[in-house]
Amino acid sequence: MTDIKDILFAFSEEIRLRIILLLKDSILCVNCLTDTLSIPQPTISRHLSLLRRTGVLEMTKDKLHCYYKLNKSEPFNSLKKDLTRSFYKALKGTVPFKGDFKRLRAVGKNCNANCKVRV
Ligand SMILES: [Zn+2]
Repeated sequence: MTDIKDILFAFSEEIRLRIILLLKDSILCVNCLTDTLSIPQPTISRHLSLLRRTGVLEMTKDKLHCYYKLNKSEPFNSLKKDLTRSFYKALKGTVPFKGDFKRLRAVGKNCNANCKVRV
């Protein structure tokens, strides 16, 4: 069961915050996240796993790919939404977040999965 400490822990590391903000309005495969962040896939996967366990992200699958998006269900749905919005407002123009959004636009164009890039 997710509690408030899990949510705060999920948002407490920069790499997880980068992932969360990339997924604010997008649905992305692991390759898009890995290519955008230029971080090794095992590292990304470890953080994605934690973000799923804490209920911040959810994963869906098609035949070939796994997709990640924000989990907009309870518990703490409005807190997760408010934290994501607040961090986005505060950080969108700063390094490394600004570059992440720019790279995601380019990476998304070359993705052959069914990612939905909205940045
Ligand atoms: Zn993709």
